[in-house]
Amino acid sequence: MNDCLFCKIAAGEIPCNEVFSTDNLIAFHDISPQAPTHILIIPRRHISGLDEISNNDQELMGELLTCAKTIATKEGLQDNGYRFVINQGSDGGQTVGHLHLHILGGRALAWPPG
Ligand code: AMP
Ligand code: ZN
Repeated sequence: MNDCLFCKIAAGEIPCNEVFSTDNLIAFHDISPQAPTHILIIPRRHISGLDEISNNDQELMGELLTCAKTIATKEGLQDNGYRFVINQGSDGGQTVGHLHLHILGGRALAWPPG
């Protein structure tokens, strides 16, 4: 994907505030945090969103979730709790077309979402 913001971040072409990285994933602070802790974790491979994942991605999605949990714990969120969010498509509020999971914590989060 030539013109994808998060592919460029994964490739190191656009800087980010990285917090965690594996061969398959990279996590970095959201540029516009909506909570005291707001981190995004993305696959390095371009996947446009949840709608594009298949059975072949089960291992990757498992790694995404378990690494997100590791990050939440490292950030000290385990006691008070936290939220993971994946927005899909326009009704879901997705603004960047590269799969990403939001790790949100550090304050009480409202429910239901707006
Ligand atoms: P979504 O609305 O679910 O697609 O989330 C996209 C997220 O990417 C938003 O929370 C943005 O603040 C965040 N974002 C956009 N550009 C950057 C960037 N260059 N570095 C870090 N986060 C970004
Ligand atoms: Zn991409």
